[in-house]
Amino acid sequence: MRALVTGGAGFIGSALCKQLVAQGSTVTVLDALTYAGCKANLEPELSSGALKLIEATICDPETVAEAFTATDPTHVFHLAAETHVDRSIDGPATFVETNMGGTAILLDAARTAWNGDGARRFIHVSTDEVFGALGKTGAFSESSPYAPNSPYAASKAGADHLARAWKETYGLPVIVTNCSNNYGPRQFPEKLIPLMILKALAGEPMPVYGEGLQVRDWIHVDDHAAGLIAVARAGHVGETYLLGAVEERQNIDVVNAIASLMDRRFPDQAPHSALITHVEDRPGHDYRYAIDPTKARKELGWSPKRDFGAGLVETVDWYLENEAWWRAIQDGSYRGERLGRA
Ligand code: NAD
Repeated sequence: MRALVTGGAGFIGSALCKQLVAQGSTVTVLDALTYAGCKANLEPELSSGALKLIEATICDPETVAEAFTATDPTHVFHLAAETHVDRSIDGPATFVETNMGGTAILLDAARTAWNGDGARRFIHVSTDEVFGALGKTGAFSESSPYAPNSPYAASKAGADHLARAWKETYGLPVIVTNCSNNYGPRQFPEKLIPLMILKALAGEPMPVYGEGLQVRDWIHVDDHAAGLIAVARAGHVGETYLLGAVEERQNIDVVNAIASLMDRRFPDQAPHSALITHVEDRPGHDYRYAIDPTKARKELGWSPKRDFGAGLVETVDWYLENEAWWRAIQDGSYRGERLGRA
């Protein structure tokens, strides 16, 4: 593959790039390095020359077209997005601009550059949040209706529809994936799991929305990345694949599990569960997400390798062992190189 990975400096994109490079693909990252993009996520591959980074926004048609000309990708993995639901509630405009506007620009650049070549693939990476909230039972499938509730989910839903339309209208070889909640190394510390680990480590309150009864279906980021590569190799154009690991947990149980793991690592600070603080619930907070990944498992020969218990232990240890990574984010120095430029 000659892969162009948008959002490759983010959490999932960087995990994907590492697997693509390890498998011998030629990889170029197109990333604006917003607050969520971290160059360090692309190390050591960037310094060793194993991948290239084009620092640019997907919202600029000219630079996106240039990226296609420069890289002539056989595969686009489109992950660039604004991704944090809380931020979408405070400021939805960027979410619409990047997630919908940027996706339209990227799709159109692919259409122009590929000029009807059906052997190329545009993998549009999306979320299960586009399907809205589930009750206590059932799971999302490829035929679930769209019913997004947050501005983030709505902007991703809009992007999914654009991707579908470019396939139906222009014959662009698009495949859409919708994945459940990811966890693992290099997740920006505003998201639930790294936030709780770092709060517990600092001895600060661990803030849980409401009673924490919401249910999320967790998948390790490396399993998601492997799923995206399986989609690129074996997925059918025009199809949607739902990726998930069937690991449902209530948020409060995840937070308690992190607190217990921290007790084991730092027994003198136990019990970390005493730091758990319930805060006012988020508006429009979806109750439950769950994915039925049967189609992806059957058609792609893919299945997740990690169970949530083992993956969570590894993830806690990764944050404990990679203090320099999250300290640079907390003190802002991870953006220093960029801010220092003329
Ligand atoms: P992230 O926030 O960690 O990374 C997003 C990346 O996109 C960053 O590197 C950022 O710099 C880049 N970016 C943002 N705006 C850009 C722009 N205008 N131009 C170019 N680059 C830009 O996100 P993530 O968690 O890695 O998610 C990646 C993708 O996967 C997103 O599309 C997200 O919707 C989807 N997804 C995420 C999850 C999850 O649990 N994290 C689950 C399912 C789907």
